[in-house]
Amino acid sequence: MEGLRNITEEDVEEQLNRLLPTMPNVCSCEQCRLDMATYALNRLKPNYVRSDKGALFHKVNVSSQQAKTEILATVVNAINIISSKPSHD
Ligand SMILES: [Zn+2]
Repeated sequence: MEGLRNITEEDVEEQLNRLLPTMPNVCSCEQCRLDMATYALNRLKPNYVRSDKGALFHKVNVSSQQAKTEILATVVNAINIISSKPSHD
């Protein structure tokens, strides 16, 4: 939706960008990345914030440390699951 941002989605993408380059045996093509992000995002709580100009509280636009830890664990899980059975040859 216009004017809404899901912080969890950005954190998942950030973790994938950080982790995948350190895992040379894992396929990191666009298709696998999307599968991983889908897997993780369906298991994590969304964290929506307003991103329009009327949004006042930039401080809330950050995930808590606990949320980040949970996101990291779920992304690692997603990478393991998807890389064990990629949706392509
Ligand atoms: Zn792939």
